[in-house]
Amino acid sequence: SAERVRQFGTTIFAEISALAVQCGAVNLGQGFPDFAGPEWVKQAAIEAITADANQYAPYIGVPRLREAIAATWQAQGWRTVDPVTEVTVTSGATEALFGAVQALVNPGDEVILFEPFYDAYLPDVTMAGGIPRFVRLHPPGDGHATWWFDPAELQAAFSPRTRLLMLNTPHNPTGKVFRRDELEQIADLCQTYDVIVISDEVYDQLVFAGATHIPIATLPGMWERTLTINSLGKTFSLTGWKIGYAVGPASLNAALRAAHQWITFATATPLQFAAAAALEGALHNGYYEQFRAEYTARYRLLEEILVSVGFPVLPTEGSYFLMADITPTGFHDDVTFCRYLTQEVGVAAIPPSAFYARQHDLPLLARFCFAKRPETLRAAQQRLLAWR
Ligand code: PMP
Ligand code: GLN
Repeated sequence: SAERVRQFGTTIFAEISALAVQCGAVNLGQGFPDFAGPEWVKQAAIEAITADANQYAPYIGVPRLREAIAATWQAQGWRTVDPVTEVTVTSGATEALFGAVQALVNPGDEVILFEPFYDAYLPDVTMAGGIPRFVRLHPPGDGHATWWFDPAELQAAFSPRTRLLMLNTPHNPTGKVFRRDELEQIADLCQTYDVIVISDEVYDQLVFAGATHIPIATLPGMWERTLTINSLGKTFSLTGWKIGYAVGPASLNAALRAAHQWITFATATPLQFAAAAALEGALHNGYYEQFRAEYTARYRLLEEILVSVGFPVLPTEGSYFLMADITPTGFHDDVTFCRYLTQEVGVAAIPPSAFYARQHDLPLLARFCFAKRPETLRAAQQRLLAWR
C-alpha cells in the first residue's frame, strides 16, 4: 500500500461494532441511533425514487436541497446564504471534511486540531500532506465546569505556517459546546495568522440544559474564512444516508467543489430530495424541539444508569455521547477496558484514546452513546448491574 495509508489500522468504530456483533453485546459504542428516522422523511425518499429522481444530481447538489440549507441558516438567524455559490452538498460530513482539507492544505502546511478529535481529522490532514499541531482539551475540574483549553497553548500552536484550524462543536467525543468567549479567542488568532477554519457542526441540533450552539462563522470577520460542515445523519436519525453539506463563502466553496468533483462528483439524488423535504418540514413542524426533548430524556436515562452502576459521568452539553470515568473499575487503559466490557459484560463502548494522537496524560474514560431506545439502555443496565 501507499505510504499515505500504510500507518492506518481499522477505525475503532469498525473494531468495536464488529466485536459487539460477535459477542451479542448491547452496542453503546459507535454513534448511530437504533430507532427509525421520521416517517415523513422516509416517505419523501420513497416518493423521489418512484418519481424517478434516480440519475446523477448536479455535482454541487440539487438546487432544492441547497435552498433548504440556506433557508435553515436564515431561520436560525445565522446568515443570508446564497444557495448557488455558498452551499455544496457532499456524501456525508466525512466527504466534506476530506474534500475541504484536500482543497485547502498544501503539503507542509500546519493544521491545528483540538485533541481529542473526531478520528477522521488526523488522516484527513496527513493524506493531504499537512502537519498536525495539537491543542489539548482538558476534562472538567481545577475550577472548570466543562472541558476547557489553555489559551496560551492555543496561541502557541499558531505559526506563520498555520493554514487551517479544525473545530468541532458540539464536540465528539467530549460533549463540549464551545462558548462564545472561547470561539472569540480562536477567531482572533485565526484572523491574526490568516488561518481558515473548518467547523464540523454535525451535532448542532443536539444541545442540552442551557448550552447554546454558536457557529464560529457568525462571529465578526469569520464568515470569509470559515467552511461550516454539517450532515443530516444525526439530526434526522438517518446516518446511513450520508447526506452532508458545507456552507461558507464562494471562494472556499469553489475550492471544495474543485476537489469534490473528483472524489464522488455527486451525491445520491433521491436522498437529496428527501433531505430537502426534511429541512423544509423541520422549519415549521416543531421537529427540532421534539428531537431535543427526546434526546434530553435519553441522556438523563443513560446518565442515571451509569451512575447507578458506579461510573461517575462528566457533563455533556451537546452531541449524543456521555463520557464515564472508569477509574473505579481498576482498569489502567481504556482500550483494554472497552474490549473487556464488550466481550465479557456485553456492553460496547468506545475508548476515547482513539481520539488522541499523543497518548500521554490521558484521562481514564469510556464513551457511551445514548442515541438508543430506552429498552436498549435498560438492557445495558441489566448487564452492567450483573457485572458490578
Ligand atoms: N463529524 C463528527 C464529529 C461525527 O461525529 C461524525 C459522525 N460520526 C461525522 C463527522 C461524520 O458524519 P457523516 O456520517 O455525515 O459522514
Ligand atoms: N461518528 C460516529 C461516532 O463517533 C461513527 C462514525 C463512523 O463509524 N465512522 O461514533
